Amino acid sequence: MPRKLNFYPGPAVLPLAALERAKADFVDYHGMGLSLVETSHRSKEYEEVHNATIGLIRELLGVPASYKVLLLSGGATLQFAMVPMNLLSGSCDIALTGSWAEKAVEDARKFGKVNLVFDGAPSKFTTLPARIVPTPGASYLHITSNETIGGVQWQDFPETGAVPLIADMSSDILSRPVPVERFGLIYAGAQKNIGPAGVTVVIIREDVLEHCSDKVPAYLSYRLHAEHNSLYNTPPVFSVYLMRLVLEWIKEQGGAAAFAEANEKKAAALYRVIDESGGFYRSPVDKPYRSRMNVVFRLPTEELEKDFVKETEAAGMIGLKGHRSVGGIRASIYNAMPLSGVERLADFMRDFAAKHA
Ligand code: PMP
Repeated sequence: MPRKLNFYPGPAVLPLAALERAKADFVDYHGMGLSLVETSHRSKEYEEVHNATIGLIRELLGVPASYKVLLLSGGATLQFAMVPMNLLSGSCDIALTGSWAEKAVEDARKFGKVNLVFDGAPSKFTTLPARIVPTPGASYLHITSNETIGGVQWQDFPETGAVPLIADMSSDILSRPVPVERFGLIYAGAQKNIGPAGVTVVIIREDVLEHCSDKVPAYLSYRLHAEHNSLYNTPPVFSVYLMRLVLEWIKEQGGAAAFAEANEKKAAALYRVIDESGGFYRSPVDKPYRSRMNVVFRLPTEELEKDFVKETEAAGMIGLKGHRSVGGIRASIYNAMPLSGVERLADFMRDFAAKHA
């Protein structure tokens, strides 16, 4: 069976080289006579994988020495709770930019007051603020660097002064370089750009770590995980292993800067078709904030959108249906989606518009 062109929003396309390598290594890991998933997380074999993975994240993102890198479970969803449980005392600031920020708001409200420093709901989450003013005394300011459902992406990050900046980078981590030193904490579920589901990366500055509450249960404590190099309990060993292979591939391809360039080209190819379609395709997102990861667009009718999805599937392209909460079409074009794949979709879009306009 030839591999499909995979536009799923996550879990999402991974580099074939990493999948093949995992397959070759699976049953007998490096001649050990057993697989890595059968091996103690205290073994030297797993320890090597664990530390190499953390090292690659540090290297590829340029994480300064004053930050810890943690590998946790529970998805980015657990971070919606862990961030306020550890760090919210009094109030925090959140930029409400879409469905994922909304979830961060809902959980934070269980632990304190949330100041919405931006409310994108009236615009139906199609834009971002040009400027944000943090609330003096807020525990932190939280943004979602890329809204996977709405298709809006921060191209630049707000200056927050003394208020630590926290970002959910689940859907664009390592798709471009980011100034890690401007953040107090970054978190990202792996299953879009850097690996399979099951492992979540947390990058936390040491002074932020020191402010963490010590009244949270063991698993929910950043400090505890940091003190144990994310080996307090059993880590998701296979997810970490596969993430390591994807990170090695990212490094071989030239790292975050190379992907920034490639991802910009890929996204531009699709937005060009949308903008040149004479209104057949419509992007709801304000141009400066259009996502380079999730290209969201509408067709003239829902009927045509259904046909579009059906015909793309017949042509070997999968995962283009928009999120059930917003409808429309969404092309998720993470790191492992090649330009040639995006060009195939762009050609299909031109043909489809010519046939139905
Ligand atoms: N934040 C963002 C930006 C996401 O895209 C997602 C998942 N699509 C989540 C959070 C939730 O992640 P998880 O399902 O891993 O908990």
